[in-house]
Amino acid sequence: VAGNTNDRLQALKDILAEVTDLSRAAALLEWDQETYMPPGGVQSRSEQISTILRLSHVRFTSDEVGRLLDQLEDDVAKLPFDSDEASLVRVTRRDYDEATKLPPDLISEIARAGSMAQPVWQKARREANFSLFAPYLEKNVELNRRIADAIGYDERPYDALINRSEPGMTTAQLEEIFAELKRVIVPLAADIARHADVVDDRVLYRGFDPDLQLAYALGLVKRLGYDLERGRQDISTHPFSTAFGPGDVRITTRVSREFFNECLFGSIHESGHAMYNQGMGQNIDRTPLWGGASPGVHESQSRFWENLVGRSLPFWRHFYPSLTATFPEPLRGVDEEAFYRAVNRSYPSLIRVEADEVTYNMHVLLRFELENEMLEGTLKVKDLPEAWNTRFKSYLGLNVPNDREGVLQDIHWSYVSFGIFPGYTIGNLISAQLMEKIRTEIPDLEGQIEKGQFATLLGWLRKNVHRHGRKFTPNELLERATGRPLTAGPWIAYVQQKFGALYGLQAVKR
Ligand code: ZN
Repeated sequence: VAGNTNDRLQALKDILAEVTDLSRAAALLEWDQETYMPPGGVQSRSEQISTILRLSHVRFTSDEVGRLLDQLEDDVAKLPFDSDEASLVRVTRRDYDEATKLPPDLISEIARAGSMAQPVWQKARREANFSLFAPYLEKNVELNRRIADAIGYDERPYDALINRSEPGMTTAQLEEIFAELKRVIVPLAADIARHADVVDDRVLYRGFDPDLQLAYALGLVKRLGYDLERGRQDISTHPFSTAFGPGDVRITTRVSREFFNECLFGSIHESGHAMYNQGMGQNIDRTPLWGGASPGVHESQSRFWENLVGRSLPFWRHFYPSLTATFPEPLRGVDEEAFYRAVNRSYPSLIRVEADEVTYNMHVLLRFELENEMLEGTLKVKDLPEAWNTRFKSYLGLNVPNDREGVLQDIHWSYVSFGIFPGYTIGNLISAQLMEKIRTEIPDLEGQIEKGQFATLLGWLRKNVHRHGRKFTPNELLERATGRPLTAGPWIAYVQQKFGALYGLQAVKR
């Protein structure tokens, strides 16, 4: 490509802008599918989405992009690591290699295997019969090995897979972190279980008017800083957040009359994702730098607001009066402290997506171990249910009654990609690591939250996390924001302190 560096950068950006527009258009079609599309639209919609994504993939993986990257890597070599230009070339290269490394016939085999396995997984789950699904999972394990081989790795095959979603993370780093978590959570969860009667959450099931819940939740996330000029909330079966650009970042929620937590904490969670996208710099819009640094970092933002802010006592000191004014009947006779305890009740449960803050990471750890062992061949697929059930018992003390509530509960293993689960724990840990740093830089944080002031907090996240988008890997981002890479220490200190106080555990020990 002729011309100078600026011409080449502009040529690359023009292509990347088109690629971004196409994928955002596909995301809008997906949003519509989950919210308003009539059931009859499924067939046409899946064709439209796959056409758009194919066009986007072809445009992105073109030889032209490869040539521009080759030349631009020399052009930007002397620019600072964190400059927009050097970052654009570095991150686009990573995406380009990932998109071009898998041979086309492997990509179509993966797609085929996923679409064949999913209905079988649904049937197997419905009938709680793992043996129906086992041959399909065996195929998926084999395909995951082939993906790892095609991408390449130094130490462990799982490294190649985890790198696709959490760039820079290694299996060894995660094993160390999970081992540390296991040493703390197993005894803590058992200790909490022995004091289970200290926390009563029956108030959450007293029946709350759905329309009032929706209005209250929307008003609340607006107060946190979710900008409704650039966002909106709709209803869907599974809540999610999606972004079509800096000016249009949406959330969905669901509401249950029977269980209070679903709508409010779901909305706070999704608005955490959405505020992340709303805070990404205009300077990186329509490039691969615009987006979450990783699924784990994205999850850190949602958990930050949902758990560290939304499930804190100062938060409820501020919001509880307006909550009781909105729902006087169901909240009668319950004070803010009792309500705070109710929304933080911790107990071992079978289902990951229903797990509380303390036990959640054990569900992830279990899946991480099993995926790794299947991939390395030390665990046979046919032995998976037994391994699941045995470990579940030793980690969370529960007997798994059937495969539906055990090994078949998640959709993830019915499509091919391993390496997704660790992101959930990475998110939890990052949220606490950021909060530890924030407390040193905003010493009055609790006072501000108690007054319903969130602007300084959101400003810190904007400056240190949001505006960078995908410029940095998760570890790089954490080094810059907190001075060290991912570590379990802050999260462990947080749950020990919070749940020790909630359940009166220290008092018992001393
Ligand atoms: Zn989330």
